[in-house]
Amino acid sequence: MALISPLPYMLKAREKGVAIAAFNIHNLETLQAVAEGAARLRAPVIVQTSPGTLTHMGLAYVAACCRVASDQYGVPIALHMDHCRDFDTLVRCLRAGYTSLMVDASHLPFAENVALTRRVVEMGRAAGIPVEAELGRVGGTEDDLTVDERSAALTDPGQAEEFARITGVDTLAVAIGTAHGVYRGEPQLDFARLSAIRERVSIPLVLHGASGVPDEAVREALRRGIAKVNIATEIKLPMAAAIREALADPGQSDPRVYLGRARDAVRDTVERKIRLCGCEGLADSPLP
Ligand SMILES: [Zn+2]
Repeated sequence: MALISPLPYMLKAREKGVAIAAFNIHNLETLQAVAEGAARLRAPVIVQTSPGTLTHMGLAYVAACCRVASDQYGVPIALHMDHCRDFDTLVRCLRAGYTSLMVDASHLPFAENVALTRRVVEMGRAAGIPVEAELGRVGGTEDDLTVDERSAALTDPGQAEEFARITGVDTLAVAIGTAHGVYRGEPQLDFARLSAIRERVSIPLVLHGASGVPDEAVREALRRGIAKVNIATEIKLPMAAAIREALADPGQSDPRVYLGRARDAVRDTVERKIRLCGCEGLADSPLP
């Protein structure tokens, strides 16, 4: 089947108080693991690439491999560009067959974030592709921000309402206390802020930096309106662990063995996260 737009599934998920899981892939094995895990659970899934993965795999490979996976596994797969700051790259993704784009201009002042997001939304509209943007800033890989800095980076509900209205963006990544990468302590999510945003913003909301967030906190975020959960680090860790374990045997040099074990480990994580998001079986649900 053709790659799908994730937006109808996100709307469907939100209606049910669940979310679509989005996984950052890095190579063929991680893509296969995501597609196989989703197929086993009949879950629509979002495969996403960071700008670094585009550099590593090449745009044409990513798009072609995703199309093959979609045909082979027969489960709805969306291909999404994650955290892209560059308009030209987004145009190339669209031309290559991506079915969802994220423009991340959250590092820019509000007016400039609005301006770049509007430009991408206009392109997405013309092509029938949904666009995700970010307001507020999800922390980086180092989770040692002080409280003041942390507060300054969180999404303001009033500003989110204005941003959604004037950009016409389809989905919004919110900063509510999660961070990308590995957490040092337990992350504290600002649920009151999430609810306040949800009250004022009608489009689906996206949770970034969800790796390492306790399951119960993720479920609470879903109850409060998160419709897409991004998972990146929690794919990398079991993959690295499986490869390390396989290569502990100095006689082991077969990539089909160590990457095969990595694929199995990633697939287990994918299935666990899909269940956490509650979207198993959603591939067969009628869409809104
Ligand atoms: Zn992110």
